[in-house]
Amino acid sequence: MKYIDGYRQGDAGKFLGKRIVENAALLADKHEPIYIMEVCGSHTMAISRFGIRDLLPPNVKLLSGPGCPVCVTDAGYIDAALSLARKDVIIATFGDMVRVPGSKKSLADVRSEGADVRICYSPAQAITLAQENPEREVVFMAIGFETTMAPVTTLIPSAEACGLTNLSLLTAFKLVPPALNALIADAEVKVDAFICPAHVSAIIGAEAYRPYVEERGVPCVVCGFEPLDILYGIDNIVSQFLNGECALVNQYSRVVTDAGNATAQKLFETFLTPVDAGWRGIGVIPMSGMGIREQYEKYDAAKRFGVSTDGGSPDPGCMCGDVLKGKIIPSDCPMFGDACTPQNPVGPCMVSSEGSCAAYFKYER
Ligand code: SF4
Repeated sequence: MKYIDGYRQGDAGKFLGKRIVENAALLADKHEPIYIMEVCGSHTMAISRFGIRDLLPPNVKLLSGPGCPVCVTDAGYIDAALSLARKDVIIATFGDMVRVPGSKKSLADVRSEGADVRICYSPAQAITLAQENPEREVVFMAIGFETTMAPVTTLIPSAEACGLTNLSLLTAFKLVPPALNALIADAEVKVDAFICPAHVSAIIGAEAYRPYVEERGVPCVVCGFEPLDILYGIDNIVSQFLNGECALVNQYSRVVTDAGNATAQKLFETFLTPVDAGWRGIGVIPMSGMGIREQYEKYDAAKRFGVSTDGGSPDPGCMCGDVLKGKIIPSDCPMFGDACTPQNPVGPCMVSSEGSCAAYFKYER
């Protein structure tokens, strides 16, 4: 298609939007509304930002899934970081995590009480922090999906190479494929097709979604983040339903290969191992996380300091779990825009720059 020459061409957008509407009209007589879930926080933000939901006919619904790594991190993980911060440990973290509420407080709260919380723009800054503070422990908050997991995991060989003994990782890494399995298996979640994440797919490869297509009958389209990328994905999925097809399509082939990034995969294999992981508001999904291998456990902050990252007690009124499963939209939460705003977030979905509640608050109120 010509539109690939420019990702924001108005004509191409109009063409795709028109075709989606036309095909959806043909589909309306033979199919229930189609529920398409995007499983990436950057897609969620782009869909809201570019008003894509408003372009769609009523029988093509977009749902946001658990694609924001900050949003799916358990309150218990924040509590563990808070307990370390109170022990005079330097907490190094990406900025998004600072305001995420734990059971009672956030890192921003304990920082205002004197805890040493440093914001990093790259995991490599944690190495510098550890080198500059040899008498103190530095703990890096190692969260994220496969994409972030790759650069953060390099901290282990880097610390080895530098001979650092005061740097460790508090891990809450998450894997996308087990989450997709859990969503498909959940009878309460309506999902007919996935817009698969772009960055994660660059690591795991498009073929990782083949089982959902061939064994579960769920069409999957890997899409980039530009509005035309997303429109193309929706158009392709609607066409698949119209034609009775179920296919895996890699629309983002300018970045994503079939097999993914072999270097990152080797890194995971060397230093990490699959573990059960708790997802905020969703619960434990078996083997949906990655922890540090036993031979590198000196870099595992949970083991080193004897803290648990499980569970926690998030605000019972926060409906992030239902938002993350696409069961409700953010404005269905009674606290949305009232008791919960980006200035005073109750749940992580309102904190994160990739959170559904933040996206709705900013663009779809
Ligand atoms: S609006 Fe706030 S309280 Fe409600 S689900 Fe979203 S983050 Fe949670």
